[in-house]
Amino acid sequence: MKDLNIHLISLSEENQEKHELEMWSNPLDIPEIDIEQMETLLEHPPKLCDDQDHCNSYRLSGDRCKCIRTLFLHETHYELYKQLVKQKIEQGFWELISKPGKHLDKDENK
Ligand SMILES: [Zn+2]
Repeated sequence: MKDLNIHLISLSEENQEKHELEMWSNPLDIPEIDIEQMETLLEHPPKLCDDQDHCNSYRLSGDRCKCIRTLFLHETHYELYKQLVKQKIEQGFWELISKPGKHLDKDENK
């Protein structure tokens, strides 16, 4: 008999995943943010598992998979990180299109 698809996700695995995800996003238990770690992650962004078959956790939880959960102590940390990444990108964009030294304050309305 051929092996069943090894990528099949067992029920217990799924339950475990749900449980871990719940703990990770528990609003009543948010650990302090490690700013230094956050900066390091911004400098060296972690890869998501979307192109890796081996991460069953990703298939169940998407970008909140086990690997992300080991990097960020809590969901709110991850949310903050994503905000910071967005800001960083936008900032880079504005720096690119605005002249040096010129800021985006609304002087023209004076
Ligand atoms: Zn993963």
